Amino acid sequence: MERRIDFSRDRRMLCGACGHQWCVDLEWIDRWEQGEETCPGCGMTCEHEDSPRVTVDPDDPALDDHRVVRFFWYHTSTQPDWPTRDFDPAAVLTPKTRRMMGGEQRVAEWAARQRAKALHVGTYEAAVHNMLRRIRNQADQRRQFSLYRVRLKPSVVVREEWLVDPSNVVGDVGLDEVCPPGVDLARYLNYHEDPGGLSLALGRNPIASVQRIAVPLPDTWDGGSVRDAVAALGGVSDTAVPATGKPARVMRSSSLGRELGASLAGRLPVNLQDQFASAVAFAEGEDPEQWARRTSGLFDLIDDPARVLAALDQQDPREV
Ligand SMILES: [Zn+2]
Repeated sequence: MERRIDFSRDRRMLCGACGHQWCVDLEWIDRWEQGEETCPGCGMTCEHEDSPRVTVDPDDPALDDHRVVRFFWYHTSTQPDWPTRDFDPAAVLTPKTRRMMGGEQRVAEWAARQRAKALHVGTYEAAVHNMLRRIRNQADQRRQFSLYRVRLKPSVVVREEWLVDPSNVVGDVGLDEVCPPGVDLARYLNYHEDPGGLSLALGRNPIASVQRIAVPLPDTWDGGSVRDAVAALGGVSDTAVPATGKPARVMRSSSLGRELGASLAGRLPVNLQDQFASAVAFAEGEDPEQWARRTSGLFDLIDDPARVLAALDQQDPREV
């Protein structure tokens, strides 16, 4: 079952100091993060340790134990076969790295810890946030991402209530830390991706099947703005700039690329603008048409999710 996708929806805030709860829009949170808003209950600003943060909306449909199992959940990854069966995290380690880690026994222990980590799925919005963050932060910009739509087994046992975001600084949490014996998955308040939404930490077993598409969609090409972008990026002169020796076309392309990326970013919800602008930064020497297709595809993930869902509908589910 699909939920309504709305990147711009209002969020609920909870003040850790005075307990006040209230609703805000994304622009409020943006001003808040810049120190321009205060808690309406106690006047606290964002610098304090227990100052207000987003919290779970009491009307979030994923709070319902029966519906949480019937909803579709999403995940973005550079792995083409997520969630990988018999995943061997040590397979990519070189002999030198294995020696540096202290030998085969240590490597085996490390691999067991990696395999014991929880998988994470969330709302469609959270999956898109996650991908933009990775493209921006982890130099994954040139890697192929996949968007996965996850169906859960109807028999899964859901942990009661919800947890505050349990991930450590690198986003990892052991499955047994959040799911006691007999429990298949735990809901948690996500602070970083689709902030205020509920995500799930789970193992491989509760997943019935996944559908996958490559993102951005390879056939995205919706006219006007993209064609204009290619014309602007590709259609300037090749005159060399004497001071630097670099062709003017290259220099103009990268600054135009930044401008076009920023102008598209300006049409997105405020909490995605910086990440989007970084993710679509135009690299010197990049092919303008490729850039425009990728940028337009990333934009559509946020601006036109219906098109993405229609592409997912065409994919046969793969049993996990
Ligand atoms: Zn307060």
